[in-house]
Parts: sequence; structure tokens; C-alpha cells
Amino acid sequence: MRRHRNVKIVATLGPASSTKEMIRALFDAGADVFRLNMSHGNHEDHRERYNAIRAVETETGRPIAILADLQGPKLRVGQFAAGPHELGVGDRFRFDLNSAPGDATRVQLPHPEIFQALVPNSELLVNDGKIRLSVNECGPDFAECTVTVAGTISDRKGVNVPDVVLPLAALSDKDRADLEFACELGVDWLALSFVQRAQDVLEAKELARGRAAVISKIEKPAAVNAFEEILTASDGIMVARGDLGVELPVHSVPPIQKRLVRKCRAAAKPVIVATQMLESMIESPVPTRAEVSDVANAIYEGTDAVMLSAESAAGSFPIQAVQTMDNVARSVEADPNYRNIIEAARQAELHSVADAIVTASREIAETTDVAAICAFSQSGKTLRLIARERPRVPIIALSPIETVLRQMTLLWGTHCVMTPRLYRFKEAVVNATRAARDFGFADETRQVVVIAGVPFNVPGTTNIVRIAPCDERLIYASDPE
Ligand code: PGA
Ligand code: MN
Repeated sequence: MRRHRNVKIVATLGPASSTKEMIRALFDAGADVFRLNMSHGNHEDHRERYNAIRAVETETGRPIAILADLQGPKLRVGQFAAGPHELGVGDRFRFDLNSAPGDATRVQLPHPEIFQALVPNSELLVNDGKIRLSVNECGPDFAECTVTVAGTISDRKGVNVPDVVLPLAALSDKDRADLEFACELGVDWLALSFVQRAQDVLEAKELARGRAAVISKIEKPAAVNAFEEILTASDGIMVARGDLGVELPVHSVPPIQKRLVRKCRAAAKPVIVATQMLESMIESPVPTRAEVSDVANAIYEGTDAVMLSAESAAGSFPIQAVQTMDNVARSVEADPNYRNIIEAARQAELHSVADAIVTASREIAETTDVAAICAFSQSGKTLRLIARERPRVPIIALSPIETVLRQMTLLWGTHCVMTPRLYRFKEAVVNATRAARDFGFADETRQVVVIAGVPFNVPGTTNIVRIAPCDERLIYASDPE
């Protein structure tokens, strides 16, 4: 089994997609990575989905990445005594720490950190940013506000505080418990919600202890401002457009998306564009034209992956949503303009031997008709560098390390294949060309580029590039040991 596109598809699992049969159908339709959303469901639900994904992996013989998305410090108001209340423009409303049920004039906001950080004129957003309030006066346990955009407030609605950096721990107690649970299960990626600073990412990485790689979700203005440092600290990035579009004006999201995607590529770290990509497909078997354009644009920008949230987790048409993304990807990638755009956006700083080798391999693929670039990698680093080049031919990733291989299924254009531990170069060439033939990338008449590091099984040694025939007899006849 191989995909006929480069961009990857992340599908969130939920009540609409938790059986093994459904997960298999989503995989067959094109989902490369599955996301477990820790904001919903309990540990048992996630364990069952985890096991079902691994069963699909065994059944298909293809590595699959599993991403556990931690809820993060999601802020919510308390409860109301008598149902929802309409807040009109100009109305006064108070938030405080008092746990008594709320009414038309006040409600509990059980987060002292918010009150510590607020100043007069700070903005508070409630219910996905639908209601906006401006702070008149505040203290350590209250904020008196005026409503600037009207709406309905009700029990446990989410609160966003865009313009201040909150003195919140990056990981709540629930996040810590979920992180440990997810790492023990064996997930490959963790996603951190509401990251504010690089320190938040370092904290999560310390807790993960290398068991899973860490993606930072960029969904706060503070994270956009500190993006360089956050990117350096992270293994990957998610452009989390849902909350980002609440905390910032929605029209500022597209330029931020473009900038983030470019910076991730320059840093050779995978990036996912997420949220509302095919929102109407929660209820409809066909997408809107605008949604199709949105998915296409993210692909033209060069993102590694596009993501489905409720469309696959709770919608009525999860398979159609994945198929739609697959179709859009194939259509975009067949456009000659796509190549022009992707190549014009190449802007890596090159310093190392590995950089030189992967650049050379991309140039070989442009100059000759090699069928694929096959690369052996211990840490995934070389694979990330190759994916950054966005070469014209498929990338075949070979590693004996299962977690690394699974993680790298998120990378643009990368087809991951498990290998045994290898000790000799000739063996590597034989394994690489066999993978190219077995998965339908090349027949015996073709050649592939093979990248490896000798001695084997030592990370960071990439030092060989070989143009190898796919005919095994020729390899045995000609290759050095
Ligand atoms: P969420 O993150 O789905 O966990 O909220 C994505 C986003 O905010 O866009
Ligand atoms: Mn979010």
C-alpha cells in the first residue's frame, strides 16, 4: 500500500469513528495519522481507540502515527442558578471567585490566575469569542466588566483572555495525568494546547522523557509572538485556527498560517494546518467550495499535513471527509503551479554534511529519472531534512526504530518502512531497493537514490549518497560492502 500524494491527513477519532472497522476505513480512505482528543472521552475510550489503530497497523503492515492532544489550561466560567442569560451591549457583568451559582449580573470564574493578570481595558471573551467584555475595574478575586459584543452566557462556557500572558502552568493536573497515560499507551506525538512560551514545551518534553515527540498548538497571540523560541523547543507545530481565530481577529489568521508554515519548513519541522477545514461535512456529504479552497491553499503553502476535527470525530460523513482531502491533495499536487510555488518557497539555511547530502539527493532527482529517495535514519533528522526539500520523487524512510518511523509518517511525502538493524552498506541498498519495488515505487529497470550513514546505528552520521539500481543482481555484482 502506498499513497499517491505528498501531504498527509490527520483524522481525529471520536464517537463517529471509534470501531476498528471505521478506523480501517478511514485509513483506507487516506488518513495517515490519528488524533486522540483528550478534551473528550475518558482513558478507557482512548485506550480502545489506541488498540484499534495498532490493530489496523498490524493488519495493513503500515506504520501509523497516533497523536494525543492534551486539553491544556482551558478556562471556563462556573454554573448559573437559572439557565442562560442574554448579555446586551453596555451591560455590566462581574466575574469572581465566589462559587455561588451565577445570575444576570455575575458568575464564578474559578481561575485566580486570570484576575492576577487582568488590567483595566483587558478584553475577556466568552463562548468561543461570541461575547466580548472589557474590564473596567479588577482585583485579585474579581473583574467588573462592560459588555461590548452581546451574546448568551451559560454554564461552563469557555473563556479566552487574548491580550495578557497568563501566569498559568502549561499543564494542568488533568494534562499531566493524560500525558502520562498517553505515553504509557505508546502514542507517538503529544500536542500541547494554549502554549504561551517555549518553557511550556520544555516542561512537557521533560515529562514525556523521549517517549513521544511534542507538537505545540499555536492558538494564542503570545505564542505567535514567541513563535521562534517555541519552534526551536518543539518537534512540530499545529496551526490551531479555532482558538487562534477567537483570540485574534479572524482575518489575521491566514497571514499567520502562511508565516508559520514557511518557518516550520525552513526549520525542517512538521506542521499541521487544523480546524474547520471541512466543517460543513459534519452534516453534509459534500464540502463547500470555500472549504475545498481552504484545504487546497494550505497544501499550496507547503504544509506537511491537513487535519479533520469534528468532521471525522463526530460528524455524519467521516470517510467522505478524508476522501475529500485526498482528492483535493491529488488535484493540487498534479498542478504544475504547485511545483513552482513549492520550489520558490525553498529557503533553508544549509550548514552540515547532512544538509549537503539531502540537497544533492533532491538535485539528483531533478536531473535524472530516479524513482525515489530512500533514506536510513536513526533519529528522523535526515528524514526531516529531506522532506524540507520537498523533492519531486517520493521519500522512502527506513528505520529499525518503530517510534521514529511512526512519528515520521506525519512528514510531507514520506513513506515509512520498518527495516531490521543493518550493519553493512550493501544490505542497506538491498533493503531500500526492495522497499521501493515492494510498495510500487519502482520496478527493476529503475534507479533510486540511497542515503545512509556509515557506521550504521549511530545517529547523526549521514555521509553516503548512492544511486542504486533496483535490480538486486546488479547490486550484488557491483556494490561495495
Ligand atoms: P482544539 O484545537 O480542537 O483542541 O480546540 C484546535 C484549535 O483550536 O484550532
Ligand atoms: Mn484549541
